Amino acid sequence: MIVQKFGGTSVEDAAALERLSEIVGAAHARGDCPVVVVSAMGSTTDRLADALSQAARGDGREAKRTLMQVARATLAVAGDLFEDRAQPVEAELALFFVELESMAAAVAVLRSVPAEAHDHFLAQGELISSLLVSRALSLRGLPAVRVDARDVLVTDAHFGRAQPDFEATEARALDRLGGPAARAEIPVVGGFVGATPDGRTTILGRGGSDYSAAIFGAGLGASLVEIWTDVDGMMTADPRIVPEARVLDTISAEEASELAYFGARVLHPLTLAPAIQKGIPVRVRNARKPEGPGTEIRSGATAGTEDVRSIACKRGIATVDVSSSRMLLAAGFLRTIFDVFARHETAVDMVSTSEVSVSVTVDDPERLPQIREELASLGDVDVARGRAIVCLVGENLKFTPGIAARIFRAVEDVNVLMISQGASRRNVSFVVAEEDVDRTVSLLHREFFGKAR
Ligand code: ASP
Ligand code: MG
Repeated sequence: MIVQKFGGTSVEDAAALERLSEIVGAAHARGDCPVVVVSAMGSTTDRLADALSQAARGDGREAKRTLMQVARATLAVAGDLFEDRAQPVEAELALFFVELESMAAAVAVLRSVPAEAHDHFLAQGELISSLLVSRALSLRGLPAVRVDARDVLVTDAHFGRAQPDFEATEARALDRLGGPAARAEIPVVGGFVGATPDGRTTILGRGGSDYSAAIFGAGLGASLVEIWTDVDGMMTADPRIVPEARVLDTISAEEASELAYFGARVLHPLTLAPAIQKGIPVRVRNARKPEGPGTEIRSGATAGTEDVRSIACKRGIATVDVSSSRMLLAAGFLRTIFDVFARHETAVDMVSTSEVSVSVTVDDPERLPQIREELASLGDVDVARGRAIVCLVGENLKFTPGIAARIFRAVEDVNVLMISQGASRRNVSFVVAEEDVDRTVSLLHREFFGKAR
């Protein structure tokens, strides 16, 4: 049995649903017994959240307009896919929007969103897509059955970010998903959505459908969890910067976590932990290029691979330097500085200190003016925007002799502004000016991965 999870872009339109049907059909034909987990289509969840906040402001009309747009887009996909046989599916889909509209109308009257209503509202995206996907598979003659995620994923009542009850969910998954899969049916279930034991709808938190897939995979003891998305996998570098960047065949979950901060579009490996911890391989694959092998994420280091696995970067960084001779031999000074950032809810990412100065990076500049003002009472403050972090990731990087020399020799003509070797042994990061970042990544890629072949 395998779990195949399809993200928002892999179910966004009729062409995507055709590709999905091919992928799932092939797995079914191989006897893999696929269990299909789906996200909401495209940006549906964002649009639902918009509609809900419009309603909460009392703007019922605007909310209704937003919902109509989502409805129209969804029905158009059904029309494209089912053509003259679309009517029954459209009728089923329309019911969801009737309910959403009446919920939005009630919220607009109340001008407040009870926590239960919030989760119930946002969950509709996955409930809709699981219906549409199961009908799309049936259209291809595949034995799909739609399963309501609320009958499978049991959670606590922490609305907005519910915690799964793994034990209860495992029993339900074996029954509701494993049962049909063992009969060679294809269960299709929405990710992201669950319910409390007394049946109230909950959601796992944004981006939660990978988490659902991992939880179901673990509960079912699946042999593989596939995450179908729109990137080829984890790469040695961003191919927009380095055209010769390669897809990594495997990466450790720990390396992937280091990279998660840098690639907004790559999955968050923590959400895959339920499967990875059980030793179930998780493979990220591109639904637009199903012939590609993708990248397997597993726990622990991958033996016999390069020291540096991937080079990532992040633009839009600001650095804050604080220097003060009062810091010399003073206890508690760092804490005072970090307190300022914490009070302004601004995360600090890289840190580097000397006896009389501290430098940090932040990627959210919103509160920098206030932060600067408060820090000024502690020492000289220098804030610089327009910087970027370059990060090399690899298991055991820290223990590889000569690695720092190779890195900084490769970029010797780039002005390196700040260096930090993370507490983890897996990354070396440094700061450069934004205009130097592409060149820096390319130079490092050439050093560690060679030229294009
Ligand atoms: N649809 C949800 C979201 O956009 C969950 C997911 O796609 O993973 O956050
Ligand atoms: Mg999504």
